[in-house]
Amino acid sequence: MSERQLVTVREISELVPIVGADVIELAKVDGWQCVVKKGDFNVGDRGIYFEIDSMIPSDDERFEFLSRGQVRTHYRIKTMRLRKALSQGLLMPMSILTAEEFGRSFPPRGAGWDEENLTDVLRVEKYEPSLPAGGTQKGTFPTHLIPKTDQERVQNIPRDIAGRTAGEFEITEKLDGTSCTFYYFNDPTLDTHGDLPNEMTDRVGACSRNWEMKLDDSSVYASIFKELELEQKLRALKRNIAIQGEIIGGNIQGNRYKLVKQTFYVFDIYDIDAKRYLNQWDRIALVSELGLSHVPLVLHKADFPLTLDVVLDFAEDKSTLCDTQREGVVFKEKDGPLTFKAISNKFLLKNNG
Ligand code: AMP
Ligand code: MN
Repeated sequence: MSERQLVTVREISELVPIVGADVIELAKVDGWQCVVKKGDFNVGDRGIYFEIDSMIPSDDERFEFLSRGQVRTHYRIKTMRLRKALSQGLLMPMSILTAEEFGRSFPPRGAGWDEENLTDVLRVEKYEPSLPAGGTQKGTFPTHLIPKTDQERVQNIPRDIAGRTAGEFEITEKLDGTSCTFYYFNDPTLDTHGDLPNEMTDRVGACSRNWEMKLDDSSVYASIFKELELEQKLRALKRNIAIQGEIIGGNIQGNRYKLVKQTFYVFDIYDIDAKRYLNQWDRIALVSELGLSHVPLVLHKADFPLTLDVVLDFAEDKSTLCDTQREGVVFKEKDGPLTFKAISNKFLLKNNG
């Protein structure tokens, strides 16, 4: 089961001509624009939209045109420029679905329809950058305790930001490394009589985005955990929490931040008992108490209204860590649950995203 829906049915809100192009035009769906063949769609039509980072199986002949003569197991949908126009995603007519696929994607549910399934029906997977080598997995990510790290793309939720202003959000730099979760959990159900010492009922762990890793070997996750003495610190703190952040530097993601040493930057702390994230101030206080580093805050002088273009433009700046284009920014509502990412289009075009 895919986590987020990469393939969805969306309505074309606008068709825009591309200067100098006769056979293609731009179709707009939610906050995305992508190139389509002229005449394939009208405004108001629905189409099947494949978001960037979709991995489409190459044994499906309907997508043969994406192969460009190369042999691959999947075609990855990336950000492109066609005739100078930015194109993100792939839009296909609804008619590509077989009757059987249509039935599986839109099973009648009471009075309504359910399109949740389309990503799985078309066997589309999310592109995941390769993990730093080394280390062994202990098991899958403990999703029964802690949510995996993830952020919605702003282009998917343009209506949610309408009427909001930047000041209502904490804005941090999005770092391009590898996601990491360290946790401490003292399971009260293991101590039925209330007489077991802490050391017998608690455990600590280090996880990549999708896996819990072994602590006694040399994965980057286990190494950072040791180096930061998190086992001792978390056992002393005795709070059921998960510390989530990004490890950058060394051999990770081509080391665009030019850090010799791998460094862990915290972006979230999850309270396992309360089943929610700490607010900005409690998080920053605990990060400093534990002697950790926090992802850079992105500050702005005056408050400003959020629109899609403004947010995407805001993503385009230098990293605060070194002289390189930043990957983007993450917005987190200060008094509410809304969070999203805005990735720099320059960064995507340059880094094959
Ligand atoms: P993506 O890297 O496109 O999959 O976007 C989601 C990921 O961004 C999360 O899983 C985190 O690992 C990572 N990330 C990097 N910097 C931040 C940040 N400042 N706030 C939240 N997530 C971040
Ligand atoms: Mn990432």
